[in-house]
Amino acid sequence: MQAARSDKSATLFKVTLALLLYFITSTLVIRFTTDGHSHATIWPGNGIILALLLNRGLTLRKRVLCLTFLTDILAKSIVWSWTPWFIASAFLNVTEIALVAALARFYTSHGKPFASARTVLNFTLIAGIAIPFAISIPGAFVSGTAHNSSFWLSFWEWFFSTSFGLLIFTPMCTSLFGGRFVHDLTENGSYPAWKIGVVLLCQAALSVLVFSQSTYPLLFIPAETLIISSLLIGEVGANLSFMIITVAGLVFTIDGKGPISLVHTNHFGREVLLQIYLFILMLTERPVSSILMSKRALIKRLTAREQMLALALINATDSILSFDRDWICRWAGGASLSLLGVANENLPLQRLSNILATDNREVLTLMETFFSADQYSAILEIAAPHMPGTTIELNFRKFFDAGTVAGAIVTIHDVTRRKLKEDDIARQSESDPMTGLLNRAGFQKRINALINAAHADFSLAYIDADHFKDINDHYGHEAGDTVLKTLAARISHQTRESDIVSRFGGDEFVLVITKNQKDAAATLERIVRAVHDEPIALDTGETIHISISCGVAPYSEGVSVESLLRQADSALYEAKKAGRNRACEISPVIVSPQVTIA
Ligand code: GH3
Ligand code: MG
Repeated sequence: MQAARSDKSATLFKVTLALLLYFITSTLVIRFTTDGHSHATIWPGNGIILALLLNRGLTLRKRVLCLTFLTDILAKSIVWSWTPWFIASAFLNVTEIALVAALARFYTSHGKPFASARTVLNFTLIAGIAIPFAISIPGAFVSGTAHNSSFWLSFWEWFFSTSFGLLIFTPMCTSLFGGRFVHDLTENGSYPAWKIGVVLLCQAALSVLVFSQSTYPLLFIPAETLIISSLLIGEVGANLSFMIITVAGLVFTIDGKGPISLVHTNHFGREVLLQIYLFILMLTERPVSSILMSKRALIKRLTAREQMLALALINATDSILSFDRDWICRWAGGASLSLLGVANENLPLQRLSNILATDNREVLTLMETFFSADQYSAILEIAAPHMPGTTIELNFRKFFDAGTVAGAIVTIHDVTRRKLKEDDIARQSESDPMTGLLNRAGFQKRINALINAAHADFSLAYIDADHFKDINDHYGHEAGDTVLKTLAARISHQTRESDIVSRFGGDEFVLVITKNQKDAAATLERIVRAVHDEPIALDTGETIHISISCGVAPYSEGVSVESLLRQADSALYEAKKAGRNRACEISPVIVSPQVTIA
């Protein structure tokens, strides 16, 4: 509520200020730039009101235009004696403002006028040429009839006068009514106030010097200084510079002094020449300041983006490296120190294999084939070079220059946690939850790896608890579980790290003893004794004696795992048949085609 009220009073203030400025500037230019028989040399009023309309929403537009109409008539009535032509002239001024305001979408982008070189150019074409030209036709008729002067002279006077008014005053008053004048003048602090002051003072001194003398045609000097102003102090500063030149030009030229009076002694002629001079000056300066503006905006955007990028890289948890086609690092950013143990500044000119401190086959193969292969990207997972236990993922992506592959961007990130989780899931899917031994899937994976290794030498044993059903029946299922766990522990205890201990289900265990047949028999005998000799204590406090039977088959090249399991199983059957609590071997081995269990 309070905000709405303060908004309303701010609007009221701006409208009053704009109308007051319209009134003051109009009376001043009429008083000092006309002799009662011509149009004012410059008409700032239209630019002031247009700036107000660009600042406000559409709601107040009609009322502002009506008030402008009245103010225009009032200003003229004060300086000149009343004539009904004032109404026509005020109507044309208001129409010009309304027309330029209606075309605002051509010189505003995202609601901001003159925000880019393109919008400034559009504004120059619309408000500097097209609309003033159209309005000057009826304007010349009104002015010519009212002042009893020639149509064409009145036309050009009207045209230049309103064109300047719009071109110079609209941008400046837009900053003023938007409350950003100081901000825009200093380009958000890019230019110190003293510098702006010095440039404007020099501009004023030179303008006075040029226009106050009537000996030398030095009109090129303000043109040069205006361009310098726009280079040194930007768009709004250049506008102020232009205003200084205009004021100096008007004051001295109307007084019959200055270089223009060298060409024309007649008042009208001097005035139109001054207008043409100022118009050319403005058309020369505008493109320069537009180009500068767009360059500055670009630099600003680039700087902001670079700062953001630098910030993102400083806080990145990944390392990003760029390599040429010889895998020489050209650029490094991000968390290289923590992931690779090397600071970013020490990475350029190093080869990828040196950076990774690896002779990993996968990395070396990728380095050889990546650029010639069709693939656009590749992913590798390797151990971090300087941190044992850490896994890093390398994400390779080609980058192109003029259509050809110029190198690769490698993004590196820590995947240790994910890897541990994956390993954990794989472990869980391959282990028996009750005993912690490998399950059938885990067994198969391990034995396949064993068989695929060169010179595999092992024996496979089937182990089965004797009369286990009776234990379940007599002591209960839980007691049965305790027995199975104890069995697993005792079997594991008698084996080596390289052996494979697994539970296939029920009371069946499969053991791979990575030694020759003789050693396997000895190991199984130890296991049979270890199970039988020591009773098992149950949770109920009772103790029970159990025994196991084992069947063992030695591996020889060409024998499949399935066949080996079958042989061990039939040896187990022999052991059961022979009275249990023992291990039986099978021999000789029946060779069958190898089938690797997936
Ligand atoms: P044999 O000496 O001929 O091997 O006789 P057995 O009684 O041990 O017979 P078998 O090996 O066929 O019996 C296995 C029993 O194991 C059958 C089933 O009730 C029991 N069993 C299977 N899985 C589990 C388990 O996870 N926990 C318990 N407590 N018992 C199980
Ligand atoms: Mg059994």
